[in-house]
Amino acid sequence: MQSVTVLGSTGSIGVSTLDVLARHPERYCVYALTANRNLDTLFEQIEVFSPRYAVLADTTLVKSFADRLASAGLSTEVLGGEDGLCAVAREADVTMAAIVGAAGLLPTMAAVEAGKKVLLANKEALVMAGPLFMDAVERHGAILLPIDSEHNAIFQCLPPQNQLGSGQGSPFANGVRRILLTGSGGPFRTTALADLAGVTPDQACAHPNWSMGRKISVDSATMMNKGLELIEACWLFHTAPSNIDIIVHPQSVIHSMVEYIDGSVLAQLGNPDMRTPIAHALAWPERIVSGVGTLDIISQARLDFEAPDEHRFPCLRLAREAAVRGGTAPAVLNAANEIAVEAFLDGRLAFVDIATVIEQVMLTLEVVEPQSLADVQQADSKSRVLAVAIIAEKALI
Ligand code: NAD
Ligand code: MG
Repeated sequence: MQSVTVLGSTGSIGVSTLDVLARHPERYCVYALTANRNLDTLFEQIEVFSPRYAVLADTTLVKSFADRLASAGLSTEVLGGEDGLCAVAREADVTMAAIVGAAGLLPTMAAVEAGKKVLLANKEALVMAGPLFMDAVERHGAILLPIDSEHNAIFQCLPPQNQLGSGQGSPFANGVRRILLTGSGGPFRTTALADLAGVTPDQACAHPNWSMGRKISVDSATMMNKGLELIEACWLFHTAPSNIDIIVHPQSVIHSMVEYIDGSVLAQLGNPDMRTPIAHALAWPERIVSGVGTLDIISQARLDFEAPDEHRFPCLRLAREAAVRGGTAPAVLNAANEIAVEAFLDGRLAFVDIATVIEQVMLTLEVVEPQSLADVQQADSKSRVLAVAIIAEKALI
């Protein structure tokens, strides 16, 4: 029986994780659930899973939520803030890192530093702190398994010796020639360029294939999500951005591919449902049912591929530049993106200006080689402050 902490249990990945866990009560017990604002969903999850701990990001809400649980006869203990998140991430056998954005960095690192099995959905943590994060994985003997569907697919297609966990070096030393990172192109792949300026948050969040949280949905619409995934893949698979090609594949049936020096190309296919990578990583190296149905490849009938259009998706270019530059550049890119996406979702910034804001921030801030998480967080803060100022200026024009 393994204990599992689900960081961000009320989100899209969190809910899918609990769906898989509920199918295997003989294998997993829920140690802790955590949430930011959605306390009603958290309450319902506690009723079903009876975790030992619940953690609220906002400490001021702890007392009233604990009272609510107690009056319902629930014995789950309530903790608060970053300390609480880090504590429950450290203590379980398995931690699902599914908080969105930079807020997930410290709790995810806490699980890594405790040498636990870490299921990584929170790609922003790895994008921000790549070298420090991977160094901590090695030093503390953590088992890091990717949940992002593309990276999970790539992992499944790696040479067998690179599927043994950390410490196996680069798959490029074991016959891999290229990684093909696929992405659907999002809801605006074929929208007339002139119409992009006026698209609304709801249009941007209406992803054709995947149902996800609002931040990653906007990232998919700008293709910044693929850019962040490029950086994520460089760290997870020990390679340079030049060894990774981004391929637009609108049907999201192939979740990514690995090409070998003998010309073989291995792909992982499946219905677009995050319960597949979640179940894979939870049970790895075994297999368990996930609730995902059989892929009907005959009615699917065709799979299309095209090169990404960097003119339509400037965020792809910005992310590749940050990946090549290294140091704090990815942290700056990520933070400016979080601020710009939030402003777009609030109706304060046009969709096409998300990339403009990020580019201005990247051109202004200097890049340093981070020696510690404090350096990463400083770059993150500077980027946020500058992005907020640039957005405020745009609003005045
Ligand atoms: P979501 O918005 O649906 O859920 C986010 C979760 O994080 C919620 O439980 C929320 O309460 C919590 N949270 C938000 N801000 C917080 C804060 N400041 N402190 C503590 N907790 C906070 O997001 P999601 O779609 O589930 O995505 C989660 C992560 O997984 C993201 O990093 C995303 O890029 C990644 N991911 C998601 C998908 C997907 O299909 N949804 C696929 C691949 C990767
Ligand atoms: Mg993905």
